[in-house]
Amino acid sequence: LFVVFEGGEGAGKSTQVKALAEALRGHGRTVVCTREPGATEIGAEIRNLVLHRDSPSPRAEALLYAADRAHHVATVVRPALARGEVVISDRYIDSSLAYQGAGRTLPVEEISWLSSWATGGLKPDLVVLLDVDPAVGLSRAAGRGEGADRLEREATSFHERVRYAFLDLAAADPRRYLVLDASRSPEELARAIMDRVLAMTQD
Ligand code: C5P
Repeated sequence: LFVVFEGGEGAGKSTQVKALAEALRGHGRTVVCTREPGATEIGAEIRNLVLHRDSPSPRAEALLYAADRAHHVATVVRPALARGEVVISDRYIDSSLAYQGAGRTLPVEEISWLSSWATGGLKPDLVVLLDVDPAVGLSRAAGRGEGADRLEREATSFHERVRYAFLDLAAADPRRYLVLDASRSPEELARAIMDRVLAMTQD
């Protein structure tokens, strides 16, 4: 089972990744929590390059995220799925479609093709979209003292495009998505997510 969390800055993804992992472990499942970018040694260097150095050109940025993802899928995600484990990733392909596609205004079909090439076509079974108003999310992220990466300094319009791109992706494939209002309490969100995952595992 491959579950992905998506959403803008300050949506509370990492809290929910942890909560879902703990709940599933309580049901006896082996869970691997991972993230993009930066889950592998090579990925950590790519993360540093894309987030903390001078801005790469948009196409170079898209290729760096794709390289991180290709290595992540090949060395972490696919091996864990092959062992029958649950993989929970904080961000995946939709982040590229939303940030590099809608955000940087690169053609979304091309980012989609690139992602599919990078992953060998591996799709998540479920995408949990934690939807947050960028004004709220950015101030939450800043409140955690995290405002340092380049993306958090982008204009509100950039983050608005990203938000609506995520929502459009979810609307186009509702069976694969669980869209939740990230302003709900963490406990309520965790319950809704676990209910959906349990319903899937009992199919
Ligand atoms: O989720 P996390 O805070 O780790 O993401 C790090 C940063 O990378 C965020 O600012 C996010 O907007 C950005 N990002 C991106 N494109 C991706 C994945 C993440 O711009 N494909």
